[in-house]
Amino acid sequence: MLDLRGDPIALTAALVDIASESRHESRIADEVENALRGQTSGFEVIRSGNAVLARTNRGMPTRVLLAGHLDTVPAADNVPSRRDGEILHGCGTVDMKAGDAVFLHLAASICEPAHDLTLVFYDCEEIEASANGLGRIERELPDWLRADVAVLGEPTDGFIEAGCQGTLRVVIRTSGTRAHSARSWLGDNAIHKLASVLDRLAGYQARSVDIDGCGYREGLSAVRIDGGVAGNVIPDAASVTVNFRFAPDRSVEQALTHVCEVFDGLDVTIEQTDSAAGALPGLSQPAAAALVEAAGGQVRAKYGWTDVSRFAALGIPAVNYGPGDPNLAHRRDERVHVGQITAAVDMLHAYLSR
Ligand SMILES: [Zn+2]
Repeated sequence: MLDLRGDPIALTAALVDIASESRHESRIADEVENALRGQTSGFEVIRSGNAVLARTNRGMPTRVLLAGHLDTVPAADNVPSRRDGEILHGCGTVDMKAGDAVFLHLAASICEPAHDLTLVFYDCEEIEASANGLGRIERELPDWLRADVAVLGEPTDGFIEAGCQGTLRVVIRTSGTRAHSARSWLGDNAIHKLASVLDRLAGYQARSVDIDGCGYREGLSAVRIDGGVAGNVIPDAASVTVNFRFAPDRSVEQALTHVCEVFDGLDVTIEQTDSAAGALPGLSQPAAAALVEAAGGQVRAKYGWTDVSRFAALGIPAVNYGPGDPNLAHRRDERVHVGQITAAVDMLHAYLSR
């Protein structure tokens, strides 16, 4: 039986010792469900596949949602866990059983709650998005995701990471006239015309913008180049694929308009192939502002797209906050400094208590 009220470091180790590669979370979900039913009071607990959900219904003015995935990437000879001084080694120590342990411990140990709490422990985060348990909960149990602020316990080295940048991909094409390269003056070389596109990219000054105390640094980059017919043919077509990572104060449409302006006046066509909206951090909303205050203002922007964006899309301010160095996730030598686990417990205990 998992011991929720005891040492959250030991709880992290116990969770790591229950191997839970994606699609194989039934045992860990059983253990989490049993522990929540047996060791917390005032929580309604339900099961959705290999996800476990729990919430209080105390009629508090605000509701905080704590979410963590139960699955890990395939283990790499690093289960069970191993403690070496202040370091706990093992698959999932960082991503993200330390975060799960913090949330489970808090659910069992907060005596004077300041907010209603919802806990979501879900499956299949580490594989294709269509299998993601949080997506299934959003479709089947949307009422369970209502909250004033959501905290995902992904590893952030103890920082509050908020919002995320958007991404836009476009293909910029040039065209010309084919000819034999021995009589190149009869042709019009489409690859040469890309030079002006690359010039604009090389000279581009990317914007940095501050939103709610989070600094977002944009980037406009060539990520692929195509062209050429044969070793003796002047090419009549060429293209460069450009990826724009943009701050969340721009919409996808505004981002596309901006990209078109960058290449204004060139003899090219621009086609959008792919995009995902960013998410504003939303930290100025009261429930989120109190969280930032409890964290001592340790806030930074989130760069990649994470499940935080699902909450942002629902209009709920959402952040990542959890123990562990994200750069150690998915590694054979994945490990967490145990001091980060207790620090996260202390910070969230202060935030969630009256
Ligand atoms: Zn994760």
